[in-house]
Amino acid sequence: LSATDLTKETIANIKQTDQKLNAWITVDEDAKPAADLDFKKSKLAGIPIGIKDNIVIDGMLTTAASHILDNFVPVYDATVIEKLKAAQAVFVGKTNMDEFAMGSSTEHSYYGATHNPWNLDKVPGGSSGGSAAAVASGQVVAALGSDTGGSIRQPAAFNGIFGIKPTFGRVSRWGLIAFGSSLDQIGVMSKRVKDSAEVLNVIAGYDERDSTVSEKAVPDYTKFLGQDVKGLRVAVPKEYMSDAVDEGVKAAVQSQIDALKAAGAIINEVSLPHTKYVVPTYYIIASSEASSNLQRFDGIRYGYRAKDAKNLLDVYLKSRSEGFGDEVKRRIMLGSFTLSAGSYDAYFRQASKVRTLICQDFDKIWEENDVVVGPTTTTTAFGIGEEISDPIKMYNNDILTISANLAGLPAASVPAGLSDGMPVGLQIMAKRFDEGNVFKVADFVERNN
Ligand code: GLN
Repeated sequence: LSATDLTKETIANIKQTDQKLNAWITVDEDAKPAADLDFKKSKLAGIPIGIKDNIVIDGMLTTAASHILDNFVPVYDATVIEKLKAAQAVFVGKTNMDEFAMGSSTEHSYYGATHNPWNLDKVPGGSSGGSAAAVASGQVVAALGSDTGGSIRQPAAFNGIFGIKPTFGRVSRWGLIAFGSSLDQIGVMSKRVKDSAEVLNVIAGYDERDSTVSEKAVPDYTKFLGQDVKGLRVAVPKEYMSDAVDEGVKAAVQSQIDALKAAGAIINEVSLPHTKYVVPTYYIIASSEASSNLQRFDGIRYGYRAKDAKNLLDVYLKSRSEGFGDEVKRRIMLGSFTLSAGSYDAYFRQASKVRTLICQDFDKIWEENDVVVGPTTTTTAFGIGEEISDPIKMYNNDILTISANLAGLPAASVPAGLSDGMPVGLQIMAKRFDEGNVFKVADFVERNN
């Protein structure tokens, strides 16, 4: 099979299988591999991959699954795209997501919900649900996602694939449509742990266009695969194995912890005492940042503009009212309130203080442990339509994933088995910039499974 045929077959297969899944917003039927593919230089040469539709590609429609951007064609590449282009990966299209990455089910998309390939009546999780379904169904071997509160790891868990959110500052956010700028991070999803290591090798590293990205050298993440876990200190927070987690999920996770122990890892029960505050803390901080970031969508600079506006204020109001979906409006209202003069101290400042306490919980754990493991989610994938009308229930999906974003830690979800026929994810977190240990444990679990 030539690289050209691989791209053609990939596109044909997506067109055929996606009628049921709806994992893609845009498929580029003209995509082709570079003419001068160098298989010695790059492991990704000629490999078709999926890109979440909040990462800009020069010349390719980028909507963030919103009506307000449904005619937005960017004129530049995100840094991760530039790097993947240099590595000669092939972009076959843009994957479905919750609008502006706000959601946990990919039901909040202007382009319709994505279905879980394991069971079409279930959600794929979100917000990177399109990327997850595309990988799990075999449409592409790898896809980029973004993770602000769990949007890579929760869909990875729900679809039985691997997904990693790197350390905040490991991968440039230049060209990622901003949601919560102190939380957002681009990461990778794939069936095999090794494939994500190869992609992260390419996209990680310094970028002068993102002032929060680190100058630290990027190790070869494939070097952490196939290693021994003997002597590795593994913390299991008791709050992550509480009654709030389904028995079937806990059983699958516990069997992996037992396997780590049998292989010589040291298992320590620990506590993350502020876990009960992470959901409100996150939703205040993320919504505050979102309300500020989304000011730029004014009907003038990008995308959709209301047709019948009578004056400038009317352009803003009508374009935003018609262009944004309900969940996005909910976040903008919440964030504008929590940042307003009368509420700032009670909400945003308070949430920022709790964030510090959550970071300190982890700092304490790192004194005696190398990684934290537990379930990625409290349940397996839920039904389409089941939680959409209950925002608080939907928000609680993120209780186990949010802490890594608030603390800026690298975190991944790796398949840990099944519960009632649906996939369960094991979450692995480590110290900032210690993606190596995350890969080491993920690879062990993959080999054990
Ligand atoms: N589900 C969370 C939210 O709706 C996280 C989303 C994300 O990580 N982008 O905010």
